[in-house]
Amino acid sequence: MMSFRCAWCNAECERRAIDVKRARERGLNLYCDRKCSGLARRRNKTKAQLVHEKRLYDLEYRKRNLAMLKAKKAAYFKRTYDPVQAAIYRKSRMPRHVEYCRQPKYKLWKQAYDAQYRAKKYYGPFAEAAMLTADLNREIKERASNHDIKWQNKTANKSQFRAREAKEEKRSRPRYRERRRYHQAAIS
Ligand SMILES: [Zn+2]
Repeated sequence: MMSFRCAWCNAECERRAIDVKRARERGLNLYCDRKCSGLARRRNKTKAQLVHEKRLYDLEYRKRNLAMLKAKKAAYFKRTYDPVQAAIYRKSRMPRHVEYCRQPKYKLWKQAYDAQYRAKKYYGPFAEAAMLTADLNREIKERASNHDIKWQNKTANKSQFRAREAKEEKRSRPRYRERRRYHQAAIS
């Protein structure tokens, strides 16, 4: 047996000589019992501190093992998915889902999402340009008055034109204002 001092309570203790020598060679701490060993290993961190550190660790872990975790989750889903049970669950959640979709925030988001979806569906690689054009068109319409739009589309005073037209005799060559009405491209 060989005596040593506990690294925590500093009491004089005895242990097999081989253990004490081994610890000294490797620069390890020796304790009188498990209680002192446990106390010496305490970090004295608060619960909040530990939670915070774990959160940071998990973030890092997920970032590092993204591919593995995704594959694992996909495999679990495939293994456990039951279409019948899933349909029942969806049905039970439906009222909440409807309420969710009624939120103004969701409606705004959905509107933008649908616009993008349609642009991609109908215009493919030109989706971005199509969306810009639609925005521009909306902007122009918002700024123009009803009168301006009707005038540009040649639909101003439409009923008056029609009434006059009906009264007039047919001409072999269209009059200027008829040319203007029917022979120019309109904007919507
Ligand atoms: Zn001790």
